[in-house]
Amino acid sequence: MKKIDERDTMFARMAWSKNSDAYNDYYRRNPEKLSFDEELRSLPNLSEEGTATYDPIDSRIADSLFRFIADIRPFAEGEVVREPQEIDPETATRRIKEIAKHFGADLVGITEIKDHHYYSHRGRTEESYGHKITKKHRFAIAFAIEMDKEFINRAPQVEQTIETTRGYLKAGITGMVLSYFLREIGYEARNHMDGNYLVVAPLVAQDAGLGEIGRLGILITKKYGPRVRLGVVTTDLELISDGEKRFGIEEFCEICNKCSKTCPGRAVSSDIIDEVDGVKRWKIEQEKCYRIWRSIGTDCGVCLSTCPFSQGIDIEKIDKMKDNHNMILEILKEHEEKYGVRNYVKEKLDILK
Ligand code: SF4
Ligand code: SF4
Repeated sequence: MKKIDERDTMFARMAWSKNSDAYNDYYRRNPEKLSFDEELRSLPNLSEEGTATYDPIDSRIADSLFRFIADIRPFAEGEVVREPQEIDPETATRRIKEIAKHFGADLVGITEIKDHHYYSHRGRTEESYGHKITKKHRFAIAFAIEMDKEFINRAPQVEQTIETTRGYLKAGITGMVLSYFLREIGYEARNHMDGNYLVVAPLVAQDAGLGEIGRLGILITKKYGPRVRLGVVTTDLELISDGEKRFGIEEFCEICNKCSKTCPGRAVSSDIIDEVDGVKRWKIEQEKCYRIWRSIGTDCGVCLSTCPFSQGIDIEKIDKMKDNHNMILEILKEHEEKYGVRNYVKEKLDILK
């Protein structure tokens, strides 16, 4: 399976300053992307004056969280502290999951690492640009942090970005606790967190059984839908894999199509599922999506609040929907009767009043 190159992601492309070595190398190799990316660079950045949702106080909440996240990123890697302590895989797996949950994870799963889980090259910073990723661990602990429905249902307003950032921060800290602990008992470990990933988190999380990648291009969990942020810790400690657990998202998305209809950037395809880089999955048009972010000033999230799984679906019904057309129609009907096209709350939350 073809690996994803982090340099091709919008987050990487927007992180390089004009005429830096990274910028010059990338557009020399990809000249067709230059004019579109330049147009995006000319727009105000997220949370900045000139965007539709800008507020001199509220927009700074997400900014301050992002600054904190940036400050702790360098701690994602570290040296093993002592000789490996003996622990059998069953006990290690149980204890790692308990620790992850105690320190913030709402869902946790384990997978053996596959080569395509890793990016081929790094791209998010000018310093790491183009570094080939060679160091690999054997196992990955994937975990999900629930994002608050009250915030997400206000997408694409500022509340959406505040909650996304809170999710990234919480995932980053949970990953720090796990990776520090693993190194303390003698095993290599790395925290993959916002802005400092070597792995593609949704691919890892899907193989660790946390959910399935849906039409909106991110992981849909049974309990919280796509209303989660993901974290991953990779390690050499032997653990027991959960294995992927498909529950029928592919069939559901084929019928539902709601996020494709509500996306303000027309970034979500209404086509049937396709093979992307050798993996059968949905993928959004990241350029169209990111253009919306830069004009709204938040990370949008309309697709998150649109998805019926974000609003909560009876787990018993979810368990019956695989290969069950009628159950999918029943779930969709109930959702539409309750929320219409999507659940949108206009009134500001108290912390922004
Ligand atoms: S975040 Fe917004 S623009 Fe991007 S895919 Fe979702 S709905 Fe579309
Ligand atoms: S809104 Fe519907 S089509 Fe889109 S990801 Fe959710 S279930 Fe799938």
